Amino acid sequence: MSLTIDPSDPLPLYHQIHEQLRRQIVSGVLKSGDSLPGESQICAETGVSRMTARQALVLLASERLVVRQRGRGTFVAPPEVVRIRKKDSLHPHNLKREKTSDERDELVFIIRELYGKNLITTTGGNLSLRLAGDSSQLWITPSSTFKGNLRPQDMLRIDLEGRKLDREAGPPSSEHQIHTEILKARPDLNAVIHTHAPWATLLVLTETPFLPISSEAAFIGEIPRVPFIMPGSLELAQAVTEALGETGSAVLMQNHGLVVAGTDLRRAASTSEVIERCAELILRCMLLGRQPPTLPEGAIRRLQKTGQMMA
Ligand SMILES: [Zn+2]
Repeated sequence: MSLTIDPSDPLPLYHQIHEQLRRQIVSGVLKSGDSLPGESQICAETGVSRMTARQALVLLASERLVVRQRGRGTFVAPPEVVRIRKKDSLHPHNLKREKTSDERDELVFIIRELYGKNLITTTGGNLSLRLAGDSSQLWITPSSTFKGNLRPQDMLRIDLEGRKLDREAGPPSSEHQIHTEILKARPDLNAVIHTHAPWATLLVLTETPFLPISSEAAFIGEIPRVPFIMPGSLELAQAVTEALGETGSAVLMQNHGLVVAGTDLRRAASTSEVIERCAELILRCMLLGRQPPTLPEGAIRRLQKTGQMMA
């Protein structure tokens, strides 16, 4: 068995190793009772740290696919357990990930990147992107699916009314109306990213302003907020779209998370990451008992003007 890692893949290294071992178990290459490579063997084969190797094995154990025995090693679980896990649709690791050569490849790349950065959680968060060839259609993430290992072919095509365009496809994200309402109202935007970004969510939970602590933060400006509205409802989608207005690019949802829209997916992903990072800095300052200093007024005004032109 040989394990490899790809440093350019945004999925964390431990997850890449976990994915390969998992695939070998569910495909039967590794059989019940077989011993898995130990931490030192994984380190030697892939060059990762011992902690990373351990994380991969712990993740497999948490899925009950393997049994770890102190002092003896890690072994593939009994066949009945492996059979159950193989059927688990939340983990389609036994299926091949294929490139589609359309927008879906970029969507999956960005999902893995945001998942690796903890902005989207296992099932929380969703992304969409307009089709380059038809602005009335979009690719969107599926409903209730493990976000750490989505494949391009898992993406769904819907129209701006939320109707599925491929008959055999499963249901789109339960929050798809946020995406369709924004893209309907804003023909200038092409991508929407909804994340459960922890620091950004903490910012809205603590009613802390998004302070202009850096040129990036000033560039984005204060982020409009909507009160708690039932997730998945049209009411929430309409409130977010209204808060975004004609020029906005981000909205915070109380007790929920963040929505960012952009002219393209990369820009929306970068804005999501900047908001999360700045929210973390602002809140960490406050946790240390300090009010963070902000940029001078004149600089803030100039940066916000530029921000509006580039949203
Ligand atoms: Zn959500």
